[in-house]
Amino acid sequence: MPKTQCTDGVVGAILASWRYDISGISPEMRRDYEQHLAECARCSARQRFHRSLDGALAVLTSLSALFFLFALSVLKHIKPLEHMAFKILGLDIYDMYHMLISAGVAGLCFSLIALALVLMATPAPSYLSGIAVERARLIEARLPERIRSIRLR
Ligand SMILES: [Zn+2]
Repeated sequence: MPKTQCTDGVVGAILASWRYDISGISPEMRRDYEQHLAECARCSARQRFHRSLDGALAVLTSLSALFFLFALSVLKHIKPLEHMAFKILGLDIYDMYHMLISAGVAGLCFSLIALALVLMATPAPSYLSGIAVERARLIEARLPERIRSIRLR
């Protein structure tokens, strides 16, 4: 976080209460805030920080959902009755298997709910799609002229 002062304390406080997300307000109202974000180094840095936090949350919750899906698919494919760990540890195979399946399903549900909450409560979708559009533009700019002319047809 930069140690610089906000150029307009009132606007800065309003922006801070919205977590520097102005995507929800009307374009006419947004103009003043966009101007402040362009002028104020402190607020624009904080906006970038909050948006990257939102993006990180969205990525983490979707990764968590993916890992739980992976765990469930692994559980489906191993043969729990033949697995050495069960024999060595002397676990009740049937109960253990069902407990693992329940934990996997619960974890998957929890991660999907968390992902849905992140996507609804934060501007992460527009932030992440903005990054994707920017990357696509950079890649397209690096393409050789011949390929670019084919794409534009
Ligand atoms: Zn400011």
